[in-house]
Amino acid sequence: MRAVQFSPEYGLQYVDMPRPDLRPDEVLLRVDACGVCGSDRQVIKGESAPQGTAFPVILGHEVAGTVVDCGDHGAEWPVGTTVIVHPFTACGTCAACARGQDNLCIRQGCIGYTRPGGFAEFVAVPVAQLVRRPETLDPAGAALLVDAYATPYRALMEAEMEPGRTVLVIGTGGLGLAALQLLQAWPAASVGAVSRRAEGVAIAESFGAHLAVTTEDDPRSVARSLRRWSGAGGIDIVIDTVSDRLSVAFAVDVVRNGGTIVCVGMSADSVEVPMAKLVRRGIRVIGSYASRKADVESMVRWVAEGRFDPAKLIGEQLDLRSVAAAFSPARSAGRVVVLPNQADVGAQGG
Ligand SMILES: [Zn+2]
Ligand SMILES: [Zn+2]
Repeated sequence: MRAVQFSPEYGLQYVDMPRPDLRPDEVLLRVDACGVCGSDRQVIKGESAPQGTAFPVILGHEVAGTVVDCGDHGAEWPVGTTVIVHPFTACGTCAACARGQDNLCIRQGCIGYTRPGGFAEFVAVPVAQLVRRPETLDPAGAALLVDAYATPYRALMEAEMEPGRTVLVIGTGGLGLAALQLLQAWPAASVGAVSRRAEGVAIAESFGAHLAVTTEDDPRSVARSLRRWSGAGGIDIVIDTVSDRLSVAFAVDVVRNGGTIVCVGMSADSVEVPMAKLVRRGIRVIGSYASRKADVESMVRWVAEGRFDPAKLIGEQLDLRSVAAAFSPARSAGRVVVLPNQADVGAQGG
């Protein structure tokens, strides 16, 4: 099969290799679509990879596929079943797993890092990771549900999101835009968006932000106007998809007393916040990592109910040979999706 391998020494390589052999707990999928995630970019830039990543690796953890070899699992997952793949594997026995927090499993693995991923024509996947995908759901959009959407969904769950809240999304990359779409479906009372770049404002508005602003000029006056806009002295929930020194300071400035800041961005920054301020104002700052399989199932249900359309997030679709292009610096807004079994798609707008 054809695949794209990555190693720090040789970069991205388009290679031919045998199809994976199946272990007893696995089925073989034909990869119909695989999303390119920000964390793939970080690994390719030489930043940290998830623990247990062994190079060379076939990257790609946002997989939509079709069962082509069901191994011992024909009763539940017959050949031809269309699926998406929850990428985070869990041990099922540690304390986090026992609490139902399988996204925080201490022995977590991830398809596309600790085992081969979806930048390939075929991938072997444990059946425990499979989520049924309605055939009517386009694979390119469906692939984005497992991480691009499930991650902000989990973050909003951690922040105890309820209808009627005022929510501010910091950052207008893939996670931020997906969060805005989910918030439209929730529904929140008021949804704001903050982008560092002026271009981010129009994009955020097109993804449903009621108010979108840029901090390009004067972050302090922007924070002041956001507090006024909230109508309650500050924002109920701030979802920070950047989570660096500046964005967290901004979040503390705009959140209301007793409000919640949920961080999903994984910057390498150390953040300085006056603790007396956090304590006196009763602000909760929480991290939210990845997603649970049940979150992915919720996302499939939401799409089936017509609550949002994941195709909106697709910026570009590439064939396998063009994967390297997905990592060049200037990309359009939205996510890049790779279609490994579609010959010569080249680069298409979406
Ligand atoms: Zn990811
Ligand atoms: Zn575990």
